[in-house]
Amino acid sequence: MKNVDDIEISKFEALASRWWDPNSEFKPLHDINPLRVNYISRHINLAEKQVLDIGCGGGILAEAMAHHGATVTAIDKAEASLSVAKLHLLESDLDISYLDSTAEEFAETHPEQYDVVTCLEMLEHVPDPSLVVAACQRLVKPEGLVIFSTINRNPKSYLFAIIGAEYLLNLLPRGTHEYAKFIKPSELATWSRNANLALKDQIGMGYNPFTKRYFLQNNVDVNYIACYEKPPA
Ligand code: SAH
Repeated sequence: MKNVDDIEISKFEALASRWWDPNSEFKPLHDINPLRVNYISRHINLAEKQVLDIGCGGGILAEAMAHHGATVTAIDKAEASLSVAKLHLLESDLDISYLDSTAEEFAETHPEQYDVVTCLEMLEHVPDPSLVVAACQRLVKPEGLVIFSTINRNPKSYLFAIIGAEYLLNLLPRGTHEYAKFIKPSELATWSRNANLALKDQIGMGYNPFTKRYFLQNNVDVNYIACYEKPPA
């Protein structure tokens, strides 16, 4: 069984032409991107590091990490998004290798090749996220970092991430997220522990609808980012 939800992939394919429009459906990803890259940079200096970005979409995060000097490889299963990502390199004048693959497939051929593996806003779109977590562990070098971000699952996250973001504030298209696929930090921690990844740090991301600004915070009730580490060999 392949761990890819074709309906999810087709949703992203349909929006692919708008990845780099900062006022499109992808506005929230553009807005949180500096926070995410700063968070990663707090844990590791990206310059000259080998980085793999899983579920890269149009390359918003991949490009930002390349701007910080990382050598970035990025994979996704939406062909249209990969085409947009490759085309955008002409504009940004960066060198990123974009490939059509899943984390699990890539881990077969690229074990322990990356200093950092990023998998942001992706786990909540796959049938079995624990398999992606285990593949990330195989891909990263000993003592390397794996960064995940996703959405917690509780009544508050339902209210904020679905009712608020999709219905009241129209930050995201309706149907972007499915509540049942949200992931509690404890579930991510269990999958990671089972895969032999140790939690280093975790932080929440908040949004102020009045100032329209995102910020990092201790509260992980809704959106959160986590930094895991692979033990030494
Ligand atoms: N990581 C990017 C994009 C997040 S959107 C960012 O945070 O800016 C989620 C992405 O995951 C989409 O581009 C979608 O095509 C991709 N995706 C979903 N399931 C996938 C899978 N099984 N393997 C690879 N990519 C997948």
